Amino acid sequence: MGDTLRSHVSRYAGALLVSGLLLWGVTENSPRPQKVDAVEPGRESAQQYAWALASFPVENFQAYTSPFGYRNSPYGGASQFHYGLDMAAPSGSYIRNWWSGRVVEVSDDSACGTSVIVESGDWTHVYCHMQGYVTTENGQRTLLDRDGGIRIVEGQQVSSGARIGRVGMTGRTTGPHLHWGLKYSGSWVDPAIVLRAMYSQQAAR
Ligand SMILES: [Zn+2]
Repeated sequence: MGDTLRSHVSRYAGALLVSGLLLWGVTENSPRPQKVDAVEPGRESAQQYAWALASFPVENFQAYTSPFGYRNSPYGGASQFHYGLDMAAPSGSYIRNWWSGRVVEVSDDSACGTSVIVESGDWTHVYCHMQGYVTTENGQRTLLDRDGGIRIVEGQQVSSGARIGRVGMTGRTTGPHLHWGLKYSGSWVDPAIVLRAMYSQQAAR
């Protein structure tokens, strides 16, 4: 086998290995984890390096402060399942949309605080504790963060890497951070595994 072909074949095998991610998914109704074979949202259009097209979701990232999974509640009481990954960043840091998709919900009246939910194929990504508030403009629910120059309208398309908000302290939080949640086919999955797949492909490029 010539070098060119061999490198082509090994690269292809690598792409196959990472084309699906084996994740453990959980739903709020049944906390028993189930295996989820997750495929990148962009698989059809960019098979080989699809994860590399994704954006890291926050600027000025400082630390992962709380992982996905069971944890003791920061508010005391029993252990709770944490359906996302907490990423500390200074207040006001911009949050970037992970993958291109459609804004299906903006809200500001839950423990998630001022938040955006984006759908990209089988994936749903949730961004919590942002700055600003939700109002209605021209009959459409709209997230406004004027100081940050942010206006996100329910139903709009957002591209990968687009600034969709800023880190704040709305909702239930003890400090400024992005709570980032990821669902695949309706099950919550560990965002850290997806970030690792993104890094490994971006490093390989
Ligand atoms: Zn969190």
